[in-house]
Amino acid sequence: MAKLTVNKVQREAKMRAHTATHLLHFALDKMLNSTKQAWSLVDDDYLRFDFACKNPIEEWDIQLLESTINDRIKQGIAVITKEMDKEEAQKTSAKAFFEEKYWDIVRIVTIVSEVDNWLDIESVEFCWWTHVNNTAHIGALKIIEHSSVASWIRRIVAVTGTKVIEEAQRNEMRIIDISKRLDCQPKQLEDKLEKILSSYHHLQDDHASLQWKIICTHLDDFHLECSLPSVGSDWWNWCVLNITDTDLSHHDFKEVINAAKSRRSDRNWIIYNKEWNFAIYVGNKGFSAKDFAKQQWLKWWGSDQFVQGKDPKILDVV
Ligand SMILES: [Zn+2]
Repeated sequence: MAKLTVNKVQREAKMRAHTATHLLHFALDKMLNSTKQAWSLVDDDYLRFDFACKNPIEEWDIQLLESTINDRIKQGIAVITKEMDKEEAQKTSAKAFFEEKYWDIVRIVTIVSEVDNWLDIESVEFCWWTHVNNTAHIGALKIIEHSSVASWIRRIVAVTGTKVIEEAQRNEMRIIDISKRLDCQPKQLEDKLEKILSSYHHLQDDHASLQWKIICTHLDDFHLECSLPSVGSDWWNWCVLNITDTDLSHHDFKEVINAAKSRRSDRNWIIYNKEWNFAIYVGNKGFSAKDFAKQQWLKWWGSDQFVQGKDPKILDVV
């Protein structure tokens, strides 16, 4: 005959996570002046709690939540369960979720601190789940993740009991590993990071100015000495540059355009690439880049002096 057995270790891990969920719900209630639970999941020393909240939860709030809950755990508060009929239960302050259907007989789980200072703080909920009989048995709680899962719904993920130590050990190993890779002691990490970031920013600046110089040199080399045929005799002094298959094609199109504007502000030019990105610049005030773009039926945006866009028709123009 099959025999039903309960895995004691797993059951206790779930009990810890579940009672901790009640404490979390209560602590969130206190913090947010009442909150509505959207969804919750309880597993072995693991809990996930989704709740309605319009505002983001800051790191500071998370720390406050953790210390509030761990305070209650440390106090070793008795978890009292009591069965009663529905009418009687409705007279209590027990939290019920309107979407849940309750039977005629309900069970109320109460966690009320007996320390004077905390008398105003209590958790009372309808619940048929299994619980630890004293909050001290939870051991500890650590929030490991908080995020937004839908509009106005936030999620908190936490671990309890032995998983808190496992989580701390995992984080410590991570820090040790990072320190090794950065060739420093864990306590020197912040200083090391500062140094790395500062030299990284210097390198970024150096890189940007080097790129700029390279682009400018290429633009100078091209001399932009070309004419723009087929757009009328007035346009003879226009320069056209297709940067595709040139050294400039590796560079950011925007950067090339900015360099051309500063380097070749005295000329009229069109620069484009094979993705049909184009820029038209008028250094000679006698023309309007806008009018020209309109005449050519290009999709564009910009001013009389400078227009840009992305349009395959640019290939017909040049
Ligand atoms: Zn419950």
